[in-house]
Amino acid sequence: MSLRFYDTSARQVRDFVPLREGHASLYLCGATVQAPPHIGHIRSGVNFDILRRWLTHRGYQVTFCRNVTDIDDKIIRVAADEGVPWWQVTERNQRAFTYAYDVLGCLPPTVEPRATGHVPEMVELMQRLIDAGHAYAADDGSGDVYFDVRSFPPYGDLSNQRLEQVQPAADSDPDRDKRDPRDFALWKGAKPGEPTWPTPWGRGRPGWHLECSAMATKYLGPAFDIHGGGLDLVFPHHENEMAQSRAAGDAFAQYWLHNGLLKIGGEKMAKSLGNSMRIPQMLEKVRPVELRYYLGQAHYRSTIDYSDEALQEAAVAYQRIEGFLTRAVEVLGDIVPAGRVPAGFASALDDDLGVSQALAVVHGHVREGNTALAAGGKEKAAELAGELRSMLDVLGLDPLGGQWSSGDQGLREVVDALVSVVLQQRQAARGRKDYEAADAIRDGLTGAGVVVEDTPQGPRWDLRRG
Ligand SMILES: [Zn+2]
Repeated sequence: MSLRFYDTSARQVRDFVPLREGHASLYLCGATVQAPPHIGHIRSGVNFDILRRWLTHRGYQVTFCRNVTDIDDKIIRVAADEGVPWWQVTERNQRAFTYAYDVLGCLPPTVEPRATGHVPEMVELMQRLIDAGHAYAADDGSGDVYFDVRSFPPYGDLSNQRLEQVQPAADSDPDRDKRDPRDFALWKGAKPGEPTWPTPWGRGRPGWHLECSAMATKYLGPAFDIHGGGLDLVFPHHENEMAQSRAAGDAFAQYWLHNGLLKIGGEKMAKSLGNSMRIPQMLEKVRPVELRYYLGQAHYRSTIDYSDEALQEAAVAYQRIEGFLTRAVEVLGDIVPAGRVPAGFASALDDDLGVSQALAVVHGHVREGNTALAAGGKEKAAELAGELRSMLDVLGLDPLGGQWSSGDQGLREVVDALVSVVLQQRQAARGRKDYEAADAIRDGLTGAGVVVEDTPQGPRWDLRRG
């Protein structure tokens, strides 16, 4: 099966045919940095990280651009409330986003442009739109520049609305001089106390939609393959990005991919709830790799309705995978990734990134691998474990690779040797029926965070989780 994606614009699944053979260009609307991220924001990062890893596995050279929106109404409001300059708010929150992406194993983008670093590109794009009759500077001299939606007949195509159905754009003051209430702001004229940049139409600051069009085309070219973002961005943000770029003559994105939202009790995450869903708070409940498993396991287009139970179930599911690989290493030594993935796993991801079906193949390998280990089938277990590592690498979940491996194998070996000595002491105490001493040794290990499990093959130990 060929690689295919559900394209919001076409409202159907389409075969992926890149503009340049062997290359894939991907733009993802990144953070608006007015606050630190909650897991709903980072879900998008995880979904598109898996997409990027799968494209790479399939042999594409991927250019991945994820922007930072560092000027915006909300940022200005937060800064005013705190009595600090706007850039202090954005610096602080951008660091929180970077930490969140990193801690969850999202590979860094090829480029991460910030909106305020691209004002000349935005001015150029506005000039092209004005010259082509698709945009105008407000007659009231406010410095506002608007996109003329009636000048562009395909307006509404992406979000599947006719122009008559489109709601007035909510991005400017009602008294500003717009020709049509649906016209959206490309540029917002200066207001007292706000940061501004010069343009031929007066000082002001960029509108959100213009920022993304300017950054996407600067780094990926006037035509690129995939534009991604959350489902809540389809209208107005992506509709407006598409309109202004295409009206200016750029082919822009060929595929539009949107991830579903993360809700709580069926509702969009409210600000009060969102605060408890920030990444550091979530990492008090589960380890980072388990949180990544949770956020990535559902199909990217589905809605996730958050619950602590589902989060814990995801953690247990991940521990099953990890448990098999840990035992495989104990029995077989180093497990080398196979470099190939099973056909069922590949066809699941080829089919609009079906991660849940791909995980079914992962867990099938874990079950078969455990059976093989128990039966002493070392060759079979090694083959399954090798394939498993390659699948997990694509999903960014390999416990033996990258940031999830303990990294300090030498230290683990030292602890292993020490625990073995202690366990021999316990065995000896039991042998002379000194159960008090045997229990005291076990309690001592537990106190040090070492959990001992007695198995038919002898005692096993692991570090206590959570
Ligand atoms: Zn955007």
